[in-house]
Amino acid sequence: LVLPLSSVFRAVGLIQRGMGAYARVEQALTLPAEPVEPTTPRCPGTAPAVRVVPREEPVLELRDVTFGYDPDRPVLRGVDLTVPYRRQTALVGRSGAGKSTVFALVARFYEPDSGALLFDGLPATGLTRAACRARIAVVDQNTHVVHGTLRDNITYAVPDAPEAEVRRVVELARLDDVVRRLPGGLSGMLGERGGTLSGGERQRVALARALLARPRLLLLDEPTSHLDAINESALARVMKDVAGECALLVIAHRLSTVQHADRIVVLEDGRAAACGTHEELLAVSPVYRELAAGQMLRPASGPLPAAGTAR
Ligand code: ADP
Ligand code: MG
Repeated sequence: LVLPLSSVFRAVGLIQRGMGAYARVEQALTLPAEPVEPTTPRCPGTAPAVRVVPREEPVLELRDVTFGYDPDRPVLRGVDLTVPYRRQTALVGRSGAGKSTVFALVARFYEPDSGALLFDGLPATGLTRAACRARIAVVDQNTHVVHGTLRDNITYAVPDAPEAEVRRVVELARLDDVVRRLPGGLSGMLGERGGTLSGGERQRVALARALLARPRLLLLDEPTSHLDAINESALARVMKDVAGECALLVIAHRLSTVQHADRIVVLEDGRAAACGTHEELLAVSPVYRELAAGQMLRPASGPLPAAGTAR
């Protein structure tokens, strides 16, 4: 029984990999021709030196973006937002303020009713959806861990990733402990729905998977539920390291995250109502003070305790 069964499991693995590969081939085949990307202008008389990317260069910009799922009821009303390279930008706001909607627009699941989105200074409307999505990776609160090895879970979008890349993201996502603990390490099986992992570890597996694609921009919807101290500090360190390699935009639900963020943007009434560091916002933004006083965390059972936010 064991031999035929193991063949079946191998076959299932092959089929899954095949399906992933097929999806990517199909995606590539249906890509429209890419518009030509502008080259860096050169000053006359200067040598064409290696281009140095300024640390603050905006990877993503929202300019005066208005959008509503129902055009008569705008959720975002003239949002301006800049997400610089190699910086951690936090997006905060009450429940229903439109944080996830910003992510949906950036991933181009919807188009703004007015205003513009720019990726690396290029209007999104001049890029294909696929080209926009190729620049970004999204880690949301639904961390998908499938029955399979830890390696499968990290590489399922890039199954042929070189070993060195896998090791890089394992280290970057601080999964070394999991690799050490799991019998078989990277080849160790994760239980059904990642049962052998804590919530924080599942989140970091999802982060490792996203980082394997080397995104220009990482969108992270931070977990709202409680993380133990070890997982919380691991997540904070991962975010710091990740922000060293790309632009990080995080929907922040915890005070520890916003305190580490280079810049925090407060969404309120459909607008980016305030932006600054934690200290600056404590001084100028009543909404931010209220969020911080509630430790940013939304109780798992409902919206913020603030009046008027219940849905
Ligand atoms: P946040 O992430 O800040 O809690 P959301 O972006 O999820 O806020 O939601 C902003 C507003 O848009 C809310 O009023 C919500 O009910 C509404 N909304 C969110 N998603 C949809 C959708 N797919 N269709 C219609 N309305 C939506
Ligand atoms: Mg949300």
